[in-house]
Amino acid sequence: MLKIKEKYSLQPLINATGVVIHTNLGRSLLPKEAIEHVVEISCHYSNLEYDIGEGKRGKRYVHIVDAIKKLINVESALVVNNNAAAVFLCLNTLAKDREVIVSRGELVEIGGSFRIPDVMSNSGALLREVGTTNKTHPHDYENAINDKTALILKVHQSNFRIIGFTKETSVEELVSIGRKNGIPVMVDLGSGCFIDLKKYGLTNEPTVQEVLSQGADIVTFSGDKLLGSAQAGFIVGKADLLDKIAKNPLMRALRVDKMTLAALEATLRLYMDEKEAIKKIPTLKMLMENPDNIKKRAYKISRLLKKEGIFTKVKEDLSMPGGGSLPEIGVKTYVVALNSPIIPQEFAKKLRLGEPPVIVRIKDDLIIFDARTIQESEIPNLIKAVKEVFSNDNKRGI
Ligand SMILES: *Cc1c(COP(=O)(O)O)cnc(C)c1O
Repeated sequence: MLKIKEKYSLQPLINATGVVIHTNLGRSLLPKEAIEHVVEISCHYSNLEYDIGEGKRGKRYVHIVDAIKKLINVESALVVNNNAAAVFLCLNTLAKDREVIVSRGELVEIGGSFRIPDVMSNSGALLREVGTTNKTHPHDYENAINDKTALILKVHQSNFRIIGFTKETSVEELVSIGRKNGIPVMVDLGSGCFIDLKKYGLTNEPTVQEVLSQGADIVTFSGDKLLGSAQAGFIVGKADLLDKIAKNPLMRALRVDKMTLAALEATLRLYMDEKEAIKKIPTLKMLMENPDNIKKRAYKISRLLKKEGIFTKVKEDLSMPGGGSLPEIGVKTYVVALNSPIIPQEFAKKLRLGEPPVIVRIKDDLIIFDARTIQESEIPNLIKAVKEVFSNDNKRGI
């Protein structure tokens, strides 16, 4: 008798939204090299906290700290569970019961549960807001400095932009104010990027190296946004500050496991060669993919659907590849557009409930499959899933 395997609750799906870094859909896909290293480390014992040369207890983070120091030329580095934890730990260590100066233009909410003011109050740091929503000048920061000031914090406006009549104080300006007053400057970059995306015609994301060279004392960022690896939070910067942070007892509560370390080490290794990184790290690859390649994939999907009697159109469109992680700047893409025979929202729901689930976007009442985030290997299953919706309804598209 055939026993039907019960489906896992956490299951793979096809992301046809075009959003590359989609927090709800698991953010970054791991590079093959990272997956292989995770598997190997997971099914054997390892030197996770063991010094092989000495035959005694070693340090958990050596496996990636040296790599990151070399890669971005920084004095010291730490890794914790995610970037929210990184920010929390820094504030708790360096600014508990003292003041942290932040611009009102940067008191952001990222996703439902990460609001800078809330993280700050929970960490025990006192928020000292300066400036206005659209303008914060260097003198706003200078005027706020007093005996209780512990830190100047700059938060990258990850998922929104204030445009028009604006003034943002630069990292360099903050560093010069910080140096004059003996106050460290911390930058929460959110999406940690090591590669200059401008070069590739993408958004103007500051790189970690850039912010460090501008003099920031501490920079924090995620492991699974633009970096394209496992969920983690990086803290990089000056050794004296990081030594203090490493001694915080919370570090133990926020520590990462061996699977994360394995994935991060393998991903960081790919960054040693920029070309290699762009080719092998799926997040970067999908973000930078040549529109002609995306177009080819879109036509392939359309052609295969046609074979099943399902008629679609390939169209040029824009992907919003960053989800909540990058500002919503559209990038040219190609999509397969299907005229739904039923209410589009109903059609999209049937696709979600299919096997595998397919997540689409709806635009002008059309079902849109963005080929940017559909992997070549997923196409047969995608066709099957779409066909299934039609066979249940016994209707046809355009
Ligand atoms: C995404 C983000 C965070 C939270 O990072 P996680 O890794 O999701 O915890 C914090 N700050 C900024 C600016 C972000 O963009």
